[in-house]
Amino acid sequence: MLKQRKRLAAGDKLVVASHNPGKVREIEELLAPFGVKTLAASALGLPEPEETGDTFEANARLKAVAAAEASGYPALADDSGFCVAALGGAPGIYSARWAGPEKDFAVAMERLNAEMGDAADRTAWFVCALAVAIPGEPPLTFRGEVWGEAVWPPKGSFGFGYDPMFRPGGHSLTFGELSPIAKHAMSHRAHAFRLFVDAFLKR
Ligand code: IMP
Repeated sequence: MLKQRKRLAAGDKLVVASHNPGKVREIEELLAPFGVKTLAASALGLPEPEETGDTFEANARLKAVAAAEASGYPALADDSGFCVAALGGAPGIYSARWAGPEKDFAVAMERLNAEMGDAADRTAWFVCALAVAIPGEPPLTFRGEVWGEAVWPPKGSFGFGYDPMFRPGGHSLTFGELSPIAKHAMSHRAHAFRLFVDAFLKR
């Protein structure tokens, strides 16, 4: 007989296994309607595991499992990135690393623009893999994507990371110019989050 998977209900604790304040903020905003009590990995003093996987899903799984094992609570991790067709999908899983130790995304966006040069194909997309790990159970992952174009110069100051350089298909504004509510309606993270909600949250 299939074992019933544990679901999270209002009041249950969930570790948000990320040390990226932009991601933690977005995940907490997405979780807010469900009444789950979020605990930030940094507030619990959890270490940031090295991202040794070669896919978004593998990196999300290793972060979620590390946080669940260290804390004893269910943990949700996000591994995400920006992909550019003209660069064969780079920076992809290396998106954070392109910003260097200072995590300076102005530098990362300059590099991206320089490497794209005058490539005619401006197609770009964000990917988000969310992994949820419940202590003692195998982790599950959910993937979301949003497609559009890389633009230059960067525009807007909402969001984080590469948001000012990405204009989603069918829109005239970048993720940096769109309000958080508008971004949550269409983002890669929101798409993955919906799959996670269907599988894991009690309504
Ligand atoms: P990691 O998942 O911690 O390896 O880092 C993902 C990196 O991808 C972030 O540091 C951002 O640079 C980029 N990224 C992921 N999601 C977004 C987003 O929603 N907006 C802008 N940049 C993002």
